[in-house]
Amino acid sequence: MRLARPLENLIDQLLKLPTIGPKTAQRLALYILKMPPGEVRQLAQAIIDAQEKVFPCSRCGYLTDTNPCAICLDETRDKNILCIAEEASDIIAIERTGYRGRYYVLNRNFNLMGDNSLEELNLEPFIEQLETGAVKEVVLALNPDIEGEVIARYLAGIVANHGVKATRLAHGLPVGGDIEFADEITLRRALEGRKEI
Ligand SMILES: [Zn+2]
Repeated sequence: MRLARPLENLIDQLLKLPTIGPKTAQRLALYILKMPPGEVRQLAQAIIDAQEKVFPCSRCGYLTDTNPCAICLDETRDKNILCIAEEASDIIAIERTGYRGRYYVLNRNFNLMGDNSLEELNLEPFIEQLETGAVKEVVLALNPDIEGEVIARYLAGIVANHGVKATRLAHGLPVGGDIEFADEITLRRALEGRKEI
């Protein structure tokens, strides 16, 4: 069955989004058709606004619409501790833990397994912060995969060269998880990161 071309086009556009499969794209498109016209305009405008007005903070790389961002301007935050993450979405997750230090987001859009090298990471604003002498500890909150491991080691070297302490997140067992079903890498790291209670 052939769909009306504008509907087909909407489904095709939605299909470009992550986690959206053909069925979901079709369901969303049909839902949008039934929405009040004002709401559809608001949705379209919100997408355009978000892309046009949100950009990475020049100091920390977090997504913002003011430069520097609200986190960098917040004087109540601990300047001694700087957390490095790969993506802005990681910051949103870390903020929920109640962490009150500062951040540096790598916003990397390349992969090391391809042609890219570590020199392509934009580290100048980060190194500038290390050079101010205010940072006493850098927390490496990188993903526990091979690339995260390579980047963490590279950054740890730079941090050490500035005489600053580098720490990394402990890798542990998920809360509610079962030791019996944990993979051996997770279990080994959990054992290495054990703490006195
Ligand atoms: Zn910032």
